[in-house]
Amino acid sequence: MSGDMNGIWVFAEQRGGELHEVSLELLGKARELADEAGKKVTAILLGHDIRSLSQLLLNHGADSVLVGDDPRLKTYRLIPYARVMASLVHTYDPEILLMGATYMGVELAPRVAAKVRTGLSAHCIDLRLGEKGQLLQVVPGWGGGVIATIACPDHRPQMATVMPGIMKALSAIEREDTVKEIEIDLPEKGLGPEVLEVKREKPDQLPLEKAEVVVAGGWGIGSQEDWKMIESLAELFGGSVGATRPPVDEGWAEEGQMIGQSGKTVRPKLYIGIGISGVMHHVVGMDQSEHIITINSDPDAEIFDTSDVIVVEDFRKVVPKLIDEIRARLKK
Ligand SMILES: Cc1cc2nc3c(=O)[nH]c(=O)nc-3n(C[C@H](O)[C@H](O)[C@H](O)COP(=O)(O)OP(=O)(O)OC[C@H]3O[C@@H](n4cnc5c(N)ncnc54)[C@H](O)[C@@H]3O)c2cc1C
Repeated sequence: MSGDMNGIWVFAEQRGGELHEVSLELLGKARELADEAGKKVTAILLGHDIRSLSQLLLNHGADSVLVGDDPRLKTYRLIPYARVMASLVHTYDPEILLMGATYMGVELAPRVAAKVRTGLSAHCIDLRLGEKGQLLQVVPGWGGGVIATIACPDHRPQMATVMPGIMKALSAIEREDTVKEIEIDLPEKGLGPEVLEVKREKPDQLPLEKAEVVVAGGWGIGSQEDWKMIESLAELFGGSVGATRPPVDEGWAEEGQMIGQSGKTVRPKLYIGIGISGVMHHVVGMDQSEHIITINSDPDAEIFDTSDVIVVEDFRKVVPKLIDEIRARLKK
């Protein structure tokens, strides 16, 4: 059995019994690579009362699922998750291990890589197979000036993280295959903090990746007070609010609203970017949007190179008028 499970692994991230979409996206890529290399795809599912998610993983491209179901894995904690993952890697010896570059993945992947003494390419934008079947991991570097292709020839597994939204999930096909339960062997002590209660804040906007309209603001917005204009505009469009890094650092927006290399990748029907310069770190997360409108007071702003419609103006002169106009039309 383990012979079938030493091909391409995808860490199937779930929280509270909900599978993160990046897991299905990674399965889509893993399936493509596995078919090319003649290997099998295995999804690794850890948590508690999560067995039912296995079918979804099989339907989206996994040949088999290794399920670690244990109350101690109910809520994600770095130490037990990393121990279990490292022990599975030692037992099954996979060729490739892929994880989402999510809050969980960016913490867990390096810990697992260090434990099993292999390399890790973080925030890959593409994955391919080389001539000898090794994984070629494509990563933007040096502020986007260089696209580096990284290989890990001497150590296994070859590990990579990929941000949500970059790979495409396969359409679901009803499939029956192997689901194998693994035994969780963890010590009683030394597992880090015990989680007593998990409170999830109800999101008051559609997840950015699902929104058809994204209104994103940048450092040019200048204040928390003016940030409300971005929120009002997004609300009028029935869309979601995105941000560059500076508004997140300032606390105008939340971490989960950041778009770009270290944030989310969005592909809405309409992206409106306001007070954003267009640095590559942000652009890689939005340049696949169907229509892009940007407002910037600097006529040479880089973001204009990626835009379909540009408005060279102080946003304070444009956005309030736009809001009034939309409100007026909605009333008609
Ligand atoms: C490793 C790494 C990862 C990163 N990851 C990300 C990421 O995922 N996402 C991200 O966004 N950033 C990321 N960054 C930060 C990134 O490099 C930039 O610093 C950031 O994107 C710039 O944000 P900005 O365009 O809002 O600000 P700025 O570059 O300061 O641009 C502000 C713009 O607002 C315009 N402006 C000012 N006033 C007005 C006005 N009144 N009306 C209209 N326009 C106005 C200006 O002309 C300017 O173009 C990362 C950086 C590093 C090093």
